[in-house]
Amino acid sequence: MTVLPIREMGDPVLREPARPVTAEELAGAEVQRLIDDMIETMRAADGAGLAAPQVGVSLRIAVIEVREGNPRYPYKPPIPLTVIVNPDLTAQGDATFATNEGCLSMPNVRGDLERFENVGVLYLDREGRPHSETRRGLTAGTFQHEVDHLDGILFVDRMADMSSLSTWAEFERHGKDDFVARIEALVERVGS
Ligand code: ZN
Repeated sequence: MTVLPIREMGDPVLREPARPVTAEELAGAEVQRLIDDMIETMRAADGAGLAAPQVGVSLRIAVIEVREGNPRYPYKPPIPLTVIVNPDLTAQGDATFATNEGCLSMPNVRGDLERFENVGVLYLDREGRPHSETRRGLTAGTFQHEVDHLDGILFVDRMADMSSLSTWAEFERHGKDDFVARIEALVERVGS
């Protein structure tokens, strides 16, 4: 497995809608190796997720995982490793929550935005088996962030107010305590 270079904002691949993966491609060695490398790359960067365009491949594949004690996102509830291929995500209801995100493709930038509280997601796993799941709260936010990447959307595009843009250090200093309190209330309310 290889840790791949992560593409950063300004790279056009991050702005292109990615194309679906065919069943034949998914079963092939090239895409299976790509998935392994994406997992390795996400873990090496302490990411909560990584989408294929972030490593320069315009295919509808993302990997998501939050391990206990992730240093980038210590407040996130754990998510077991999930590989999503050709995901189809739909909001369940209108409820949203205020969150704060960062992105491996936008180094040292964070900002506030709204995400749907509950989403339904249909996807194939790496073996091509279909899944239909409901994801809630912060985990729903992570799924929305990764699926956005497959549509060429970055989290800043979803920000209603740019005045909350901050570096990670300033977020730690000024924003984190309030945010963590809000997130704990969210997890209490909707689960994860
Ligand atoms: Zn991202």
